[in-house]
Amino acid sequence: MRRTLLTLLGSIILTSGTVVAGEKTHWEYTGDSGPKNWGTLDEKFKACATGRNQSPIDLNNFIEADLKTIDFNYTTQATEILNNGHTIQANYAPGSKIKVDGIDFELKQFHFHTPSENHIEGQSFPMEAHLVHADSDGNLAVIAIMFSEGENNAAIGKLWSSMPEHAGDKQSLKGKVSAIDLLPKDHDYYRFNGSLTTPPCTEGVRWLVMKNPVNVSKEQVKTFSDIMHHANNRPIQGTFARPVLK
Ligand SMILES: [Zn+2]
Repeated sequence: MRRTLLTLLGSIILTSGTVVAGEKTHWEYTGDSGPKNWGTLDEKFKACATGRNQSPIDLNNFIEADLKTIDFNYTTQATEILNNGHTIQANYAPGSKIKVDGIDFELKQFHFHTPSENHIEGQSFPMEAHLVHADSDGNLAVIAIMFSEGENNAAIGKLWSSMPEHAGDKQSLKGKVSAIDLLPKDHDYYRFNGSLTTPPCTEGVRWLVMKNPVNVSKEQVKTFSDIMHHANNRPIQGTFARPVLK
């Protein structure tokens, strides 16, 4: 019934020719709407099935490169935290940037996956954070941070204390949370070309994966996966001879 109504609503929007709030194609991490079928759920999701530069990947067969230090200029904080049913996401106040390839990319939001999406030399991690940045043309650069099981992570503690329990819920963040507090001390990284790890799986994303993991407690990972009710990692994608720089 709900689906019929939504489809009807979708057609009305289409026939009226006004793009107000078009129907978003539903996707999930399991079952018929899961990763294996993302590419056929919607014409716009085609890259999920046919793309040759998809993420996540298992990072290995590294190529030595003279990777430039990432210039971090995070001056603002996360302002709100939301549960979109696929992840827990913190939206960032404008003005925080990194410089990569001489281009400024502004931090828009960061969010989490459990277990990790990317692997490093065959190893999966209990959790991974994605710091999503965009340049003025809309090109994306994602910094990935791996978490390994250990002591409580203070920044995660602050975030989780405001974590919205239900999909669709949003809260303003009580304590100030800076993305700097999520980063490892050493900013050495691996680099490869990839995509969004969720539909529409758009390619052309600069992936910068921190070499060193940060700690998170088993309980903190459990709090997150309990609220998600399921794993939220896309399976590893083929590299098709893509180089991973180190
Ligand atoms: Zn992500």
